[in-house]
Amino acid sequence: MHASAPGPDGRFTEVADRTWVARHAWLDVNVTLVEGDRGLLLVDTLGSERAARGMLDEVRRVTTRDVVAVVNTHEHFDHTFGNGAVLARWPGVPVHAHEEAAARTVDSGRTAQEQYAGQDDGTDEHRDQHRDEHRDEVLATEPVPATVTFSSVAVVDLGDRVVELVHPGRGHTAGDVVVRVPDADVLLAGDLVEESAPPSYGPDSYPLDWPAALDFVADLLTPDTVVVPGHGALVDKAFVADQRGDVGMVAEAIFDAASRSVPVEQAAREGEWPFPERTVLEALRRGYDQVPRAARRLPLV
Ligand SMILES: [Zn+2]
Repeated sequence: MHASAPGPDGRFTEVADRTWVARHAWLDVNVTLVEGDRGLLLVDTLGSERAARGMLDEVRRVTTRDVVAVVNTHEHFDHTFGNGAVLARWPGVPVHAHEEAAARTVDSGRTAQEQYAGQDDGTDEHRDQHRDEHRDEVLATEPVPATVTFSSVAVVDLGDRVVELVHPGRGHTAGDVVVRVPDADVLLAGDLVEESAPPSYGPDSYPLDWPAALDFVADLLTPDTVVVPGHGALVDKAFVADQRGDVGMVAEAIFDAASRSVPVEQAAREGEWPFPERTVLEALRRGYDQVPRAARRLPLV
């Protein structure tokens, strides 16, 4: 890969033509900036208004253009809680998201805030962080959903270049979006792909659908595509193929264990899994609910 790698310092690094990625230490989340002659597209907005204000100051270090559009790759707070701060600085700019993500942003955000407030029910993907130093700024943030939604595909016209927004199917959430910058061969994968942690199988995930979504994404990639995961370092098509293999293995194992009515804990213990036990248990619990009833039968005795 020829791209320079952003460090986890929140600084925007140009990874391809007029495409900058800032990797943030807090939750190791990425924010991406794409510039055209109409202005800037900002993809994902961090986990609080305060964090977003700092990030917007960093935008000024790389370009003087204004933000003209925002995309949320999905509804989770660490990708949407800066929406309000962006709109405060650039009133009225369209904030794009999949219709499912936009519809869930406020509820999902309130759930995250409850967890940060200490009322953790133990199901959140980021539960270890709920008492961290960012607690106050998360609680002080007003969740603001996207203002422009779509169901399959959309385009953001930046003047001399276009950016494609694609819903490849359900996976990490019901409303995952990948963002493609075709002329720069860059793809922003949201949390359908994670580099620095296992894929996050939260209570709003679709473990059985996830492999097909990644198949769709893989078809958008070339061997040279710079892939920006939702969290962690830049990756490539080979990494996405590996992660597709892992989530595919998990989906098959869920289907197999659920159809034999093996209890979740037993399935987690007995299987060969590509991810740590906590991730596997979350995937199994969520996946079992999604196996069609007709595919289940009583255990053989
Ligand atoms: Zn997420």
